[in-house]
Amino acid sequence: MKVTDHIKKAKGKTLFSFEIIPPVKGKSIQELYDNIDPLMEFKPPFIDVTTSREEYVYIDRDGLLDKKLTRMRPGTLGICASIKHKYDVDTVPHVLCGGFTKEETEYLLVDCHYLGIENVMALRGDAMKEEKYFAPTRGGHQYASELVKQIHDINGGNYLHEVIETDDCASFCIGVAGYPEKHMEAPSLQSDLRRLKEKVDLGADYVVTQMFFDNQKFFAFVEAAREMGINVPIIPGIKPIAVKRHLQLLPQVFRVDIPQDLVDAVDACKTNKDVRQVGVEWCIQQSKELKEAGVPVLHYYSMGKSDNIKAVAKEVF
Ligand code: FAD
Repeated sequence: MKVTDHIKKAKGKTLFSFEIIPPVKGKSIQELYDNIDPLMEFKPPFIDVTTSREEYVYIDRDGLLDKKLTRMRPGTLGICASIKHKYDVDTVPHVLCGGFTKEETEYLLVDCHYLGIENVMALRGDAMKEEKYFAPTRGGHQYASELVKQIHDINGGNYLHEVIETDDCASFCIGVAGYPEKHMEAPSLQSDLRRLKEKVDLGADYVVTQMFFDNQKFFAFVEAAREMGINVPIIPGIKPIAVKRHLQLLPQVFRVDIPQDLVDAVDACKTNKDVRQVGVEWCIQQSKELKEAGVPVLHYYSMGKSDNIKAVAKEVF
């Protein structure tokens, strides 16, 4: 079922969902299941599975370093299929511009359709670790909006090189990313919102936001988006702080602000357990306020570990 249909069916009730990261190549999928199992009692209607960018690795060949391009966490679609089958839940693969040609994207979408996957998140992807700026793959897309258009075209039977008329046409529900504190490359929040509007005009059905720790920023973002005519559901993405290092890492990687009260509370912690508890409590307060405000879904970034998400969900759902 489509994410937007789940939202309609919930009739105003806030749903619970989360995002997982594929295991490192070669590792067992069991660890993923072990983290999903405790969250299933909160009945997520859908689970997102991220896609990692490829990266360079250096292989020592008798003293000479061989540079190879590889994806350290492959398997997004396989994981989506296995989770869908195991838990009978909808899964949302993240589809990236970076690292994929348009043809490869088309084949991926064909596979999704065969597997009964009805939702995809259309994302540009970040720059590779070695790159300062995002560079599109040769034959691939530069912006998520182009990817949205490709998916939307396939929904109408318009493939890259042919038009296919069939009774079993794909009908993907398309999610896109939004940034309450603006995307790091955007010159202003307003211009970033215009780009978001482009994605919606080209066929995006819903928005999931980057994580944020101050709900006022989310509320202001939604208001500005509505004023601009973005009328699709906007789903807040949030995450409990789990280790002290997040105070530096999250602003650096995701360009988000952390409110001073939260910084002080984490700084005052003596043990990792205390930090986790502070993160959970902050996230519970955030979640309760967002739920009260009537958000359609609370979407949690699990980043591989579910104990803290469970602790939050227990208090909120
Ligand atoms: P875009 O919408 O293409 O925007 C990128 C930048 O370009 C923005 O600054 C925008 O304002 C600007 N822009 C857009 N269109 C134009 C235009 N026509 N001309 C000029 N400027 C333009 N990354 C991963 O690698 N894997 C994942 O699984 C993943 N999942 C994510 C899930 C969520 C919910 C979010 C919020 C992010 C996720 N990301 C993921 C990170 C995302 O790929 C990065 O934030 C990326 O840098 C931007 O992606 P986007 O889809 O927002 O890009």
